[in-house]
Amino acid sequence: MKYCIQCNQRKDKKEYSKSKREKDGLNTWCKSCHKKYREKNKEYLSAYKKVYSDIPENKERKKQYMIKYHIDNKENILKKKKEYLIKNREWIYHKNNKMNMLRNWENRISCLQVYSNGYMKCELCGIDNIDVLTIDHINGNGAKHRKEIKKYKDLYSWLRDNNFPDGFRVLCRNCNWEDGLFKRYKKETYLLSELKNK
Ligand SMILES: [Zn+2]
Ligand SMILES: [Zn+2]
Repeated sequence: MKYCIQCNQRKDKKEYSKSKREKDGLNTWCKSCHKKYREKNKEYLSAYKKVYSDIPENKERKKQYMIKYHIDNKENILKKKKEYLIKNREWIYHKNNKMNMLRNWENRISCLQVYSNGYMKCELCGIDNIDVLTIDHINGNGAKHRKEIKKYKDLYSWLRDNNFPDGFRVLCRNCNWEDGLFKRYKKETYLLSELKNK
C-alpha cells in the first residue's frame, strides 16, 4: 500500500505509475489523481507543450533525437520490415511492387519524422495528413538536386543514406507549390528589375 499525497488515501501500489524521480520508483500521486489533473488542465498542458516545442533549442534537440533514433534503430527498423515481409509473403508475392512501395513508404515516414521534429506536419500551415506531406528544399533548388542524385530512386532514400542532412523541411503539397511559385515570382521580378536597370 502507498499513501497518495493528493487525495490523501492509501491505495494499492498498482494504482501508481512508475517514476524514476522517486525513491520507491512510484509517483507520489495515484493514477486517478494524475488523470483528474490532466483532464482539468488539458488546455494549459497542450498550450505549454506547444510553447515548449516551439523553442528553437528544444526543436533542435528533438531533431537530433529523431536523427539519432533513426540511425541507431536502422537494424531494428529493418528487422521489423523483414518480419512484416515474411508475415505478408503471400500477399507480396501477388503484388510484388508493394515491396518497393513499402520500402519507399518507410523511407518517407523516416524523413517526415526527422524533418518535422517528430510532429509530421506541414511547417507552414500545420496540416498533419501524411498523404499530402512532402520534403521541401529550403533554398529551392530541388530540380537541380534531384538531377544530382539521379542514381537514387528518390529523395527519401538519398536523405536516409546521407543521415538526414540540413537544408530540408516538411511542407504539404499546397504550401510547397505556393512557396515554389513565390520563389519563382521573386526570381522573375529580380530578373526584370535587372533588365530595367541595364
Ligand atoms: Zn490520489
Ligand atoms: Zn502546408
